[in-house]
Amino acid sequence: MRPFDYIKAADTADAAERISPAGAWAIAGRTNLLDLMKLQVETPEVLVDLGRLDMASIAEDGAGLRIGALVTNTATANHARVRADYPLLARAILAGATQQLRNKATTGGNLCQRTRCTYFTNIDQPCNKRVPGSGCGAIGGVARLHAILGTSEQCIATYPGDMAVAMAALDAQVHLQGGAAGERTVPVRDFHTLPGETPWQENVLQAGEIITAVTLPPPVTGRQIYRKVRERSSYAFALVSVAAIVAMEGGRIARADLAFGGLAHKPWHDPRLSDLLVGEMPTPALFDTAAHVLLDGADARGGSDFKIPLARRTLAAVLTEATEDRT
Ligand SMILES: Cc1cc2nc3c(=O)[nH]c(=O)nc-3n(C[C@H](O)[C@H](O)[C@H](O)COP(=O)(O)OP(=O)(O)OC[C@H]3O[C@@H](n4cnc5c(N)ncnc54)[C@H](O)[C@@H]3O)c2cc1C
Ligand code: SF4
Repeated sequence: MRPFDYIKAADTADAAERISPAGAWAIAGRTNLLDLMKLQVETPEVLVDLGRLDMASIAEDGAGLRIGALVTNTATANHARVRADYPLLARAILAGATQQLRNKATTGGNLCQRTRCTYFTNIDQPCNKRVPGSGCGAIGGVARLHAILGTSEQCIATYPGDMAVAMAALDAQVHLQGGAAGERTVPVRDFHTLPGETPWQENVLQAGEIITAVTLPPPVTGRQIYRKVRERSSYAFALVSVAAIVAMEGGRIARADLAFGGLAHKPWHDPRLSDLLVGEMPTPALFDTAAHVLLDGADARGGSDFKIPLARRTLAAVLTEATEDRT
């Protein structure tokens, strides 16, 4: 690891000022950025520790819930309101990493965690995300765990997190502070970006901007399911994950909010699915059409071909479970 300066920010304004220069990075739970520094994937000159900032609590926000950026994943998953009203979020968090990691991982850090593309984490390999213009080792290389939706010729990496996928289904809002735009709120569905021509840009954070909190909307009715398909039953990132909130009325689907992990550079939310499903009777044919819409244009480039049938089957299984009559 290369030498770096370490500063504890006193408050949000201080943090924003100190992370504004290139080479200065915010750090929270340290479970991702420090690993990347040890591998020399990231070589910050200054680490700005956010630990003293007043962002470590969960509070009622109207009928919704505001989760501070420094709240640990364990605290969020165990919170009584989260367990009662947003079980999807608790389940998604608990499907991620390990208890020890979740005890340290924070809301802000989890949202900003980096891809697990092995070409990104190996500094001997070309990677447009790590070194713009150096090429993409995964395209034409061993790309087994890569994106199949929204890819570009510059990058086919996936966003690896679970928590943000549940937040995308819930339509949570991310609160930002400190950049040129001042205080602003961005839907989590728009927080992460697709790779396009600038794969090193992974979200809408601007220089000096930090996440202060995430707000969950008022609770909704319906079943909440998070299904994560992975290579081991724990301690593994998603090959495909589906977050679903589905409500039924009179035998028809009245609400269907879906988001997907493991398929793209960001938690994937496709509004066409809700349009297609709502108002319909649940049938295998309908679920198959939904999968068709979701995966229309999927480009697996060989190694990740298996994700297409896997996503189709996982979506069908989740929708079947969510709509089955349990009376
Ligand atoms: C072995 C292993 C397995 C894992 N498995 C999973 C898994 O299955 N699912 C899953 O979702 N995650 C998994 N993780 C990832 C883990 O959840 C993340 O490392 C963690 O959530 C990052 O949070 P942190 O607070 O430690 O971030 P840090 O490492 O402190 O920071 C990560 C990034 O976030 C930025 N950042 C932090 N806080 C803020 C803020 N408030 N505003 C702006 N930027 C900020 C930092 O600058 C940095 O770029 C795994 C990690 C490991 C090491
Ligand atoms: S897929 Fe993206 S992260 Fe992976 S090597 Fe290519 S450019 Fe880098």
